[in-house]
Amino acid sequence: MAENTDINHIVGKIQKIFIEFFSIEKLALEIQFSIGIAIFPEHGKDVDTIMQRANVALYAAKQDSKRYTMYSSQLDKHNPHRLTMMGELRQAIENDELVLHFQPKISLHTHSIIGVEALVRWNHPKHGFMPPDDFISMAERTGLIKPLSIWVLNHALGQAEKWHSQNLKLSIAINLSPTTFLDTELPNLIIGMLSLYDIPADFVIFEITESSMIKDPDLAMEIMNRLTDKGIKISIDDFGTGYSSLAYLKNLPASEVKIDKSFVTDMLKNNNDTVIVKSIIDLGHNLSLNVVAEGVEDKETAVRLKALGCDVLQGYYFSKPLSNNNFLNWLSKKKNKKAVQKS
Ligand code: C2E
Ligand code: CA
Ligand code: CA
Repeated sequence: MAENTDINHIVGKIQKIFIEFFSIEKLALEIQFSIGIAIFPEHGKDVDTIMQRANVALYAAKQDSKRYTMYSSQLDKHNPHRLTMMGELRQAIENDELVLHFQPKISLHTHSIIGVEALVRWNHPKHGFMPPDDFISMAERTGLIKPLSIWVLNHALGQAEKWHSQNLKLSIAINLSPTTFLDTELPNLIIGMLSLYDIPADFVIFEITESSMIKDPDLAMEIMNRLTDKGIKISIDDFGTGYSSLAYLKNLPASEVKIDKSFVTDMLKNNNDTVIVKSIIDLGHNLSLNVVAEGVEDKETAVRLKALGCDVLQGYYFSKPLSNNNFLNWLSKKKNKKAVQKS
């Protein structure tokens, strides 16, 4: 079987070729590309199957605006396993088999919990708790993402409303996948739903990735403006992994950038990552954006991020994403600990 390191090496070599501009009739052209990977013999024992599956992976890479994607049966429209899973997911949405977990966001200015990010899980009757990476992209490709997003919106807003009624004034961050975000019906849907819940609009944050904006920058801007006009906030998720131009970023009505965890997790070991993190913090502040670091796994990283001027932290060091009950327990333990420390 091909090792990951072999694959990374080959992808790296191809990437290097395309980094340079190609000059055609004195025009410097930047070439965008996507790679679909299928491996012999795991993904097919003959040329036709391997090529067909590499195509499936390529199509998925293009859809997700990724540089490369490895074939997996979940990507394959005609795969019987995938068809079963999609039928089950449709039912799971109807039968409330999905659950939201919440991960706290901590302000480095006030040292308090200012909000949470809602992260969906599927409590599958046979397979147990399934992480979103196992079903979100599949839902994107089959149209199930819309009912799934509506389920998440309803439950996240409902939960935030409950917390607010208990005097827990937490903001709620909700992830929007590219197709949901670029759905022209979305702003009216969100604004309509928000009016059903007793929660101020500026406590609701939508996390959108750079890559979903790049798919249709004008439409993205229009949708963001319609949401922010109502007071809703926008956060740019996975920041640093996309290709946004500075001119585009400058005009975004966003209030927050989240530094992608791939830079944060190893920043103490990898100086390049520290440089990237510092640059994003400075860039964010120059554009008057709040800067959040996700993927903070230890105290040393938290201390370093504070020294670099980061505003908000999120990660396993503080807490993993928790069910509502576990989150409330975690909060009360934190409060008790603070009370003990003060006394
Ligand atoms: P994301 O938006 O980048 O969310 C952060 C992911 O990092 C979460 O994974 C979270 O559990 C994980 N994480 C948090 N702290 C740490 C840490 O300190 N170290 C490490 N290594 N990881 C950390 P999760 O919950 O598996 O979610 C994966 C992705 O699925 C999310 O990435 C988001 O893109 C997507 N997703 C989750 N919930 C939803 C949803 O309701 N709707 C949509 N469209 N996408 C969702
Ligand atoms: Ca997110
Ligand atoms: Ca993220």
